[in-house]
Amino acid sequence: MEIRTARFFLVPCLLLSILVLWGQSLAQGKAAAAPRPPLKVFISVDMEGIWGVVHGNQCSSDSPEYQLARKWMVQDTNAVVQGLFEAGATEVVVNDSHGSMRNIIASELDPRAVLISGSPKPMSMMEGLDSSFAACILVGYHARAGSAPAILDHTISGAAIYSIRINGIEMPELGINAAIAGYFNVPVVMLTGDTETCRQARELLGQSLVVVPVKEAVNRLAARNYARDKVLADLRDGARKALNSVKGFQAYKLQSPYQFEINLHTSQQAELGVLIPGVKRPAPRTLTFTSQDYLEGFKLMRALIALAGVS
Ligand SMILES: [Zn+2]
Repeated sequence: MEIRTARFFLVPCLLLSILVLWGQSLAQGKAAAAPRPPLKVFISVDMEGIWGVVHGNQCSSDSPEYQLARKWMVQDTNAVVQGLFEAGATEVVVNDSHGSMRNIIASELDPRAVLISGSPKPMSMMEGLDSSFAACILVGYHARAGSAPAILDHTISGAAIYSIRINGIEMPELGINAAIAGYFNVPVVMLTGDTETCRQARELLGQSLVVVPVKEAVNRLAARNYARDKVLADLRDGARKALNSVKGFQAYKLQSPYQFEINLHTSQQAELGVLIPGVKRPAPRTLTFTSQDYLEGFKLMRALIALAGVS
């Protein structure tokens, strides 16, 4: 090929290449400018409301029954995580929320999810939540102390707490924690547990809450567990449905100032808590205080429950 002819072809070829490259970089720039918006979901997982669990031994690490129950715990959780990713979640954070908070076997959790494990944690069952999350889900929850029939009903501490009232409302853990989510403007969109826990959740958080009952209590220590395959499918479907309709949910907010009332089982359990400034003892077994900030109030309440345990 003669040089002049080569130049004749070379110049338009170079120009064409530059145009193609420019076009490609523009297209890539466009894709980078429109990333998928984050859709973060927080899951708090307790153990008494997990499918198959009917007795305290199953929730206690010193019992041989525990190893199997913690597998059911991660299976229930994974079904929910699966449904969330199918509905477009971009990040799922799972907070282990029972006892030592080291129940979920990290390597068995859906590898797409982040696991918060261990205790103590400042926000306890809600550790890891902040206002960047779009939704909160409560898995394996149980009914408040004094419920029947309900599997392993209690409120935070079976040994110390007879009841907890906040702004006059007798609270299950699900309500106390939903108000923490509300503090961060995050709605609770779904709850799983026994049928009574699901009823209490809808009574408190609204009838549109997605609930997935996994068992029906016969009494405090016996339940009819629903068919396993159906439960896992319901958990997955429920999570998908809840996240798809996330815009229809409102965060659960209580009115400030927050009035906390802690009713203990014995008068002895109130002895140390009353030493804290601002804490009153209107009755031998009752401690009360008022807080302008819900999270501060929650933390003081936890400290009083811990003190009840060593009084
Ligand atoms: Zn628990």
